[in-house]
Amino acid sequence: MQKINNRGILTVVSGFAGSGKGTLMKKLLENYDGYALSVSATSRSPRPGEKEGVSYFFKSRSEFEKMIEDDGFLEHAEYVGNYYGTPKDFVFSKLDEGFDVILEIEIQGAMQIKERFPDTLLVFVMPPGAEELKSRLVGRGTETPEIIEKRMKRAAAESEGIEKYDFIVVNDDIDKCTKQLHEIIQAAHFTPSHQMEFIQEIRKELKKLEG
Ligand code: 5GP
Repeated sequence: MQKINNRGILTVVSGFAGSGKGTLMKKLLENYDGYALSVSATSRSPRPGEKEGVSYFFKSRSEFEKMIEDDGFLEHAEYVGNYYGTPKDFVFSKLDEGFDVILEIEIQGAMQIKERFPDTLLVFVMPPGAEELKSRLVGRGTETPEIIEKRMKRAAAESEGIEKYDFIVVNDDIDKCTKQLHEIIQAAHFTPSHQMEFIQEIRKELKKLEG
């Protein structure tokens, strides 16, 4: 498929904790060109292996609150006791450069983004089943049983909002799921709201030819 206009698509990817969306993002960027993943800020502590500026920008609660005051976020939300937010600058510069920008964020942030930027594509990543979700979270071994319980409760609450998304993908096979996500985003380039320049151009030409 050939893209007609050059501006990137803003895509929000959400999914329950343990749905494997982190791995999905990694694969999408490895397997295909043209994507840029926004790095969020958070007040939660780094997990083993997470890197500053790659996984997240790790902030104290007060540093995060200062960024909110300074209008530094496109959206922000609280999730299981911590702040998470999308820094403003990166997203628009990358979209203008033609990258399809991915925000991997939870549902409250997704709704804020959709309201401010209605042509954002919203994709929800589903696990094959709820049992699988819990065993992935336990298997990861990075959270206490108490936090796992809170995240499972949060998943049940978030599941009420899935209809607000444009697409769902089921992460039962990571390669298949990565390909599906890529195809959905590429197809979004051909919706009228992402082709307004081209449409206006044709309209202008038609007007001229009316005589
Ligand atoms: P985790 O602590 O597992 O890395 O992330 C917890 C949740 O916060 C996930 O659902 C993740 O998608 C979401 N999240 C990560 N960054 C942001 C962000 O910038 N804004 C919002 N609203 N949610 C985020």
